[in-house]
Amino acid sequence: MTDIVVIGAGPAGLTAAIYARRASKSVIVLEALSYGGQIINTPDIENYPSAAHISGFDFATKIYEQAKSLGAEIKFEKAVEIRDGGDVKTVVTAKNEYDAKAVIIATGSANRKLGLPDEDKLTGRGVSYCATCDGAFFRNKKVAVAGGGNTALEDALYMADIAEKVYLIHRRDAFRGEDTTVERLKSRDNVSFVLNSRVTKLNAGRRLESIEVTDKDGKVSTLEVSGLFVAVGRVPENQNFSSLIDLDEAGYAASSENCRTRTPGVFVAGDNRAKEVRQLVTAAADGAVAATEAVKYINS
Ligand code: NAP
Repeated sequence: MTDIVVIGAGPAGLTAAIYARRASKSVIVLEALSYGGQIINTPDIENYPSAAHISGFDFATKIYEQAKSLGAEIKFEKAVEIRDGGDVKTVVTAKNEYDAKAVIIATGSANRKLGLPDEDKLTGRGVSYCATCDGAFFRNKKVAVAGGGNTALEDALYMADIAEKVYLIHRRDAFRGEDTTVERLKSRDNVSFVLNSRVTKLNAGRRLESIEVTDKDGKVSTLEVSGLFVAVGRVPENQNFSSLIDLDEAGYAASSENCRTRTPGVFVAGDNRAKEVRQLVTAAADGAVAATEAVKYINS
């Protein structure tokens, strides 16, 4: 029996592990992919207090090492179900079952797709969801970035240093992401904004060759690009746990301010939680709150 099983090794889950270990609870962290979550793809974090500049990879690695050095056990297994046995929760993975007194769901979110025909087929053949992972393949080529949030803005800025030309395509004329990044993009000669427009078709042979873009008046144009970075937001990863937690219309987990769900002993933390501000600093804050509440729950 473990005290706390944390599902997800992103900033929320790893922070929860740090707090739980410092409260002397045994902790297993289950991670389906690699540690770090979404932040691992951010080239440069500039808004985390005390770290004026740090790469997402370095940031994630530091929390991972911190959690491990405090004694959190990290296992790379995907949690597919939580069974509620009252005082004992069983977290089920493909390989094992883990009994715990409390569970913290910190599963974050997955890339939202544009939903275009051939989008999946062309992923890895011109279509990408991660500029820092795949950007180097497009050195001196023309690319487009779709989206208007911080990820799209940062991807466009990252690609402006690598690609010959970057089109930033956003469905509105105002960006959701930070103004400072928008200003930086405006100062780049090789970045063009394509606003009030959506990507409506992918044209490809074996690889992506061009994209069709349709503006709000229905005017269709073609951009010759060999790369399209899709950064149109994320979808929360709560589906496997919906029998124990309430989800809102968009699939985010409902919880109280202290990260408790409707099931005693099951907590949520991070980007999969319904809340206003989804940032690194609020993910870490959620992890601290959820772990503190889980410890209180176990000790009560
Ligand atoms: P986001 O903020 O949700 O933005 C998604 C963008 O995609 C929005 O501009 C949205 O348009 C657009 N969009 C959504 N669905 C679309 C569709 N089907 N077709 C075309 N466009 C679509 O997502 P994100 O940029 O991935 O960021 C997620 C969270 O992480 C945010 O809270 C963000 O601030 C945070 N983040 C922070 C940093 C940082 O602090 N350095 C870096 C990256 C991400 P509308 O604007 O019209 O809705």
